[in-house]
Amino acid sequence: MKKTFFTAGPAELYPTFEAHLRSAMDEQVGSISHRSQQFRDIYKHTDEQLRALMNIPASHGIFFLGSASEIWERVLLNCVEHESFHLVNGSFSRKFYEYAQSTHKYAHILEKSFGQGFSYNDVEIPEYAELVCLTHNETSAGVQMREADMHKLKRSNAKKLFVVDMVSSAPYPDLDFKVIDSAFFSVQKAFGLPAGLGVWIANDKCLEKAERLQKYDDTHIGAHHNLPTLWKNYQKFETPATPNVLAIYILGKIAADLNKIGAGKLRKETDSKAKILYKFLENSTNFDPFVTSPEHRSATVVVANTKVPAAEVMAALKKQNLVVSSGYGAFKDSQIRIANFPATSSEQVEGLVAELAKFG
Ligand SMILES: *Cc1c(COP(=O)(O)O)cnc(C)c1O
Repeated sequence: MKKTFFTAGPAELYPTFEAHLRSAMDEQVGSISHRSQQFRDIYKHTDEQLRALMNIPASHGIFFLGSASEIWERVLLNCVEHESFHLVNGSFSRKFYEYAQSTHKYAHILEKSFGQGFSYNDVEIPEYAELVCLTHNETSAGVQMREADMHKLKRSNAKKLFVVDMVSSAPYPDLDFKVIDSAFFSVQKAFGLPAGLGVWIANDKCLEKAERLQKYDDTHIGAHHNLPTLWKNYQKFETPATPNVLAIYILGKIAADLNKIGAGKLRKETDSKAKILYKFLENSTNFDPFVTSPEHRSATVVVANTKVPAAEVMAALKKQNLVVSSGYGAFKDSQIRIANFPATSSEQVEGLVAELAKFG
């Protein structure tokens, strides 16, 4: 019996994944050169499909790296000379902040407790911060920051660069890339691919900053996957090093499938599935939504407090071939996390809720 993965990543594969994998085998993409026209066509196709899906303008390049956490380091090295600023409310946003410390940036932090979200009025950006690091969806806590709040923050701090970690929500957030300088995600979350590819979206202002830093000090921006080198190769739809061609190929195909549905409809479907989950949690005697403020509740990773031990809930679900993620860190025994990505249908979400309802 096949399992259904409501896990926050790696997650359920998108339903068309297998067919695209087979066509990749037919086209022998695992053996082609990354300097061939066939690869350039694959990169170009994936680029076009992501641009259409996420409304990415020509000012921004789209680059392929190893993972999202690699991009944390790249964006810090390439876009910060001295100071960065981080909104932290869980494990992933905290790690981004820790990467800034490890790369010897003066990292400012505004912290909220686990389960709390950020709104525009909560945030004062330090004067000398060059890069503002936001996390659209804090995967560990199931907390989301509204796009309008992120856009407003940038508009009132127009000279600073803004980067958005959208790893566990892309392509759901409706980011305005005329405002947001950079964003990134990896493919094993809402796009429903196996892990092994990070996607970095960055504009000409990020490039200018990286080039300026490179002029001062040739080592500042690092040797591997620095932005000027990525950008130069991107002009020919190539990558500096040999990339994950198979994943780039399949990402383009899945993005094309999602474009057939349309970004607006995808968002509506995500919202309606999230509503099913939150409504169940609110009315249940054994579960509660962890995030109390509805405007900060994530649409893509729903975190539930459980009154019975979380391990019992997970074991009962497993018997029905349903897999959810455990709570993060200290919340391992008292929470479950349910991913709500495009790969799982509303029927599958209803099925999960029916099993959870057996606990009362
Ligand atoms: C999973 C995740 C990451 C890290 O992604 P990797 O592909 O494992 O490097 C970063 N940020 C958030 C919000 C995540 O959910």
